[in-house]
Amino acid sequence: MTCHANYYDLQSSEAYSVILSAEPDGLRIQGDKASDNINMLWQMSGVHVSERLGSAPRTLRHSNKGFCEVADLNSLDTLLNDLNHTLNLLELVQHSTPAMLLSVAIFIMILGVSYLIGLPLASKVIAMQLPQTTLKMLDNTTLESLETYKFLTPSKLTPQRQQALTAEFAKLVENSEKSGLNAVELSHPDHYQLIYRASEPLGANAFALPSGTIVMLDDLVTLSSNDNELMGVLAHELGHVQRRHAARMVLQTSIVGLAAAWWLGDVSTLLAAAPAAILGAKYSRDMEREADSYGVALMQKNGLSSCYLASMLGKLEENFKQKQASTANKMNKKQIDKTKVSNHSENKILSQIGNYLSSHPATPERMKSLCPAQ
Ligand SMILES: [Zn+2]
Repeated sequence: MTCHANYYDLQSSEAYSVILSAEPDGLRIQGDKASDNINMLWQMSGVHVSERLGSAPRTLRHSNKGFCEVADLNSLDTLLNDLNHTLNLLELVQHSTPAMLLSVAIFIMILGVSYLIGLPLASKVIAMQLPQTTLKMLDNTTLESLETYKFLTPSKLTPQRQQALTAEFAKLVENSEKSGLNAVELSHPDHYQLIYRASEPLGANAFALPSGTIVMLDDLVTLSSNDNELMGVLAHELGHVQRRHAARMVLQTSIVGLAAAWWLGDVSTLLAAAPAAILGAKYSRDMEREADSYGVALMQKNGLSSCYLASMLGKLEENFKQKQASTANKMNKKQIDKTKVSNHSENKILSQIGNYLSSHPATPERMKSLCPAQ
């Protein structure tokens, strides 16, 4: 088998027309009529053959003797076959369907692993670096959006009751700062802020916004037996703030937002994703464990038993079961005023709303570690 090629000797840019043929000792390169002074034998061990890429010409390169360029790819394949040229890994993959399918599967697997492991990891790193002003913007956008759609309404707690709880919360925060428990320095005490709202769809609930605003809902206060239980929930929520869990959830739900924040410092996409991400947040077990261990340490610094948090979680679970059993269908119809659900983003937020337990599951192991004596 022979095939036509252009030979370049590396001395000049001139292309010599040659014929390649297979011989027992290697590749014979002979000039045609116009370049009949060329006659070489290359040992195949010294020849590098370029990979086949579509219909592009391939090259056969000898380290110090120049290279041949071949356009007739099929003839070259036959010639290489005659020369017993072994295919390199990439060529093997390209020539074998199972190998090609396997490489596609591996590629998809790598993508999957990057999504499952890389994304949370990137979110964690970036969340810790987001400036306080950005976090505050996330807080404000989320609150505004929830109030606009009437998911949050003014609290019906008396001003005295609110003041009493705020004073207890301030003590809790003060101790968190004194005790050195904090992972991130929130330089201004205003960053920790307890606000009161009522919410029919959210029921007995409390949630932390990225910069440290904690929203306590009236139904949670009503459900509690004493303020220590409420402080237990707040200590746990402060743990989520300290480890930037809410910011991480926002980053994780918006890959585009994460990339924009990382490379461009642009947070507009994140702001749009924030309300749904925060309300729909399903914290991982690791996040819950982190928030719990922070909450427990903080409660201890305040002389409070962590069993208060466990008993509050027990009440929330009981409350949730009761509601679920008796009025599941009725609740949905009653709580969601269909006439107000008019646009896409409102629907999206609504569909993401969970109860306190869906975002902070009170697993038996969690309850046990919070209150071993129970
Ligand atoms: Zn939690």
